[in-house]
Amino acid sequence: MDIVCTDKEALIFQQIGKAAASLNMPCYLIGGFVRDKIIGRATKDIDIVCIGDGITLAHKVAESFHPKPYVSFFKNFGTAQIKIEDLEIEFVGARKESYAQNSRKPEVAPGTIEDDQNRRDFTINAMAISLNDHDYGSLIDPFNGIQAIQEKKIITPLEPSQTFSDDPLRMMRAIRFAAQLNYTIVPETLAAISSNVHRISIVSQERITDELNKIMLCEKPSVGWDLLFKTGLLHKIFPQMVDLHGAEYIDGLGHKDNFYHTLQVLDNMAASTDDLWLRWAALLHDIGKPATKRFEEGHGFTFHGHEVVGARMVPKIFTKLKLPLNEKMKQVQKLVLLHLRPISLTKENITDSAVRRLLFDAGEDIDALMMLCSADITSKNKHKVKRYLQNFELVKERLLEVEDADRIRNWQPPITGEMIMATFGLTPGRQVGIIKDAIREAILDGLIPNEYEAARKFMLEKGRELNLEAVE
Ligand code: ATP
Ligand code: MG
Repeated sequence: MDIVCTDKEALIFQQIGKAAASLNMPCYLIGGFVRDKIIGRATKDIDIVCIGDGITLAHKVAESFHPKPYVSFFKNFGTAQIKIEDLEIEFVGARKESYAQNSRKPEVAPGTIEDDQNRRDFTINAMAISLNDHDYGSLIDPFNGIQAIQEKKIITPLEPSQTFSDDPLRMMRAIRFAAQLNYTIVPETLAAISSNVHRISIVSQERITDELNKIMLCEKPSVGWDLLFKTGLLHKIFPQMVDLHGAEYIDGLGHKDNFYHTLQVLDNMAASTDDLWLRWAALLHDIGKPATKRFEEGHGFTFHGHEVVGARMVPKIFTKLKLPLNEKMKQVQKLVLLHLRPISLTKENITDSAVRRLLFDAGEDIDALMMLCSADITSKNKHKVKRYLQNFELVKERLLEVEDADRIRNWQPPITGEMIMATFGLTPGRQVGIIKDAIREAILDGLIPNEYEAARKFMLEKGRELNLEAVE
């Protein structure tokens, strides 16, 4: 099989082949690396399978490099890894697997290369390339993975329902590959996912979420989310997303399907940024809508406060999905909370004060917020979209003007809590907060300029109102 390897890769494979021959162990390149090379995708992890002990082979291979790379190995799993520059090479002995009903950890026994290919999840992932003298470089493709690549198809090598029931993580992988590669899951395989969705409960949340993040990083993440929805997996792993689905009509007044709207916003966002967390913000921006949906007689459906409710849901969703509860979560939450603000500025006569407030509230996330807001414009009416985007450009200009004049982004008022305490001889407490807030509000409202002298004068006035005496 002609695959295009770099010179460095070709040299490494020859060395692995030689080391394996000296141990009398047949060995093969297998799995994702073979697939990606045939497709022509960039790939850095190389899987090697040998007939024998993978750890022994890894040590032998390591000895043939100067300097000798470190071999990390897991005796229990019989796997070993070495790193050569940016390539991670994993060695494992070929094995045969059988599954128990309640675990995705199989019984493992040594096996042949065929056994090892049989346990692989999809035909595109089950191809091997020989590194053995007598047929070096030849492709071993028992399930016609090559054809599946040509036809862009995801198919399980063995009976699909058994494949997914044995290890339900494969359902997530099928959908992730379909989204990453833009392949179609063949009908029989797809139907087997639908009939095994209940099995996902034995898979750890971390692994599920790993796959979700991989879907999120695809060029069009909507492909993956839509498949999760259509197979019914989404109902099990993320029911709040399913609640967004469906459009309702009462007396001829309707609302759009918020699930597909969300997916469109997500794809729009993905077209603007590779940032995983901004994509999560797009996915979650309307997550509060189902809980806030009301029908107002003669007016139609409303979702008042959905941004506040949605923002409150973010930490709960991150906790459930085992996404990190760090500043990234806070950023997502903030974007969900503020996602209507820039668009609301296109509707009113924009005052400097409203613009300043948005800059202050969004802080360093203002650009991300504007990106989310543009992504959120998904109307089918081209004129409407054009008008929105034009208004939106005006808001952007105003943001720049006000930012230029006032430097509100990442702004701290010129008077700190410490200064207030020192001025009035106060200890930390309510009064300090009242004065501090009043100064900030006065500046944001444009009552006083964003300067030390003016803020100090205002602080002293505020102190007098509260019957405080300046001590310095
Ligand atoms: P990626 O590296 O993009 O996540 P991959 O297919 O290379 O995709 P790995 O987790 O690196 O995935 O696994 C390497 C190979 O191991 C796969 O190509 C496949 O042959 C096999 N494999 C991985 N996970 C499973 C699984 N759950 N069931 C069966 N085979 C699997
Ligand atoms: Mg891989």
